Amino acid sequence: MVPMRRKILPLAVLIGLALAGCQAPASSSIRPTPQPKIETTANNPVEPTFTPTPLAPTPTATILAEPIELTATVWGQLPQVPILMYHRFDPRPGARSSRFTTSLDEFSQHLQTLYDAGFSLISLSDWLRGEIHLQEGRRPLIISIDDLFFADQISLDENGVPALYSAVGVLWDFAQKNPDFNFHAALFYNLGDKGYANHYQNGVFSLQDGWRQARAEAIAWAVEHDAMPMNHFYKHPYLDQLSPEEIQQQMADNDSALREALARVGREDLNGRLPNILALPYVVLPDTEAGLQALYDYINPEGAPVAAIIAGDYAGGPRLLPAPFAPEYDRWHVSRISASTSSVTAIVERIDQIPTASQCKLGEFRGNPHVLPEVVSAAIREKVHLGTCPPGYYVVGQLAFLVQGKEIIQYAP
Ligand SMILES: [Zn+2]
Repeated sequence: MVPMRRKILPLAVLIGLALAGCQAPASSSIRPTPQPKIETTANNPVEPTFTPTPLAPTPTATILAEPIELTATVWGQLPQVPILMYHRFDPRPGARSSRFTTSLDEFSQHLQTLYDAGFSLISLSDWLRGEIHLQEGRRPLIISIDDLFFADQISLDENGVPALYSAVGVLWDFAQKNPDFNFHAALFYNLGDKGYANHYQNGVFSLQDGWRQARAEAIAWAVEHDAMPMNHFYKHPYLDQLSPEEIQQQMADNDSALREALARVGREDLNGRLPNILALPYVVLPDTEAGLQALYDYINPEGAPVAAIIAGDYAGGPRLLPAPFAPEYDRWHVSRISASTSSVTAIVERIDQIPTASQCKLGEFRGNPHVLPEVVSAAIREKVHLGTCPPGYYVVGQLAFLVQGKEIIQYAP
């Protein structure tokens, strides 16, 4: 898609707008902005993801009484991210990795290599929404794990913390020791095709009574800490062998099983955090238009439309996912990189294609910036004009802009 170019109003007019907004009835808290509405049309699922936002505050907008400080995350070039794809893990010391199993020792080495190269984790959901924020000087990285829930992927110890004999435990421990690595993961789950080994001894997992409860506790921990479960279909089917109705049922059954697990441990409050993101089992798409349409049209139990369809390896080598405001971004074909020591090395060799974040302080705002994008835009242009902040891609909350020369383009969610 072609980025929307908007005429920027003079700063004085915009400040007037902001001040007018401040006179509206005050509210005591920031109300979250609704998620971007994603439009799926029956015949053309590759419609532009981003649509214009209104120029002026909407009548229902929340206006803040207190001024808020805004800082933009700035990317000198288009943000792009590698998405690593893991499957199973082997906790035994000296274990060898294979195509679908990574030894935890090797997993730790991957994390260290990527961290040392400047990578930090970012949430897949945030990325897909265009909320691409990261600490100064860090490069974005997404870690995904497929086919959960297996105990080698996540097990909780007696204190309710992910155990070091599971991958999420290793990742959690690494993030505790290196807080600027952050902690996020995308966990693509199938709850209808296996049990969960809730007992571990000397490198061996076994399934015992109470496994559903143990799995539910692990799921609740994961959602709460943003190792976020995402839909990989209930029984890990080949989607080209199912009718559209069966495809729909596979997504719905998986979603409801996850919510049942949260209900089992009294954590229905977490339902609202679950995104609607699909990953294709075996990287196989439905082979009919109606089957594909079932994917595009799927709505999760909370009413969210599908944000993206995640595939697997791209045959042409490591492929990076661009920011959703890039013209080449296609939310129906998000490719990943099979994780291995060689693919981690290949990513590190390409770090010049993966920009680092910087910050630009935009100052204080009295109106809700989400309904005053023009004011934010003008503030960015001013900072760049004065040379206080560099040109590039600016992400402020859910808003994104590109500053090029004297021009500023807003990408509207
Ligand atoms: Zn799978």
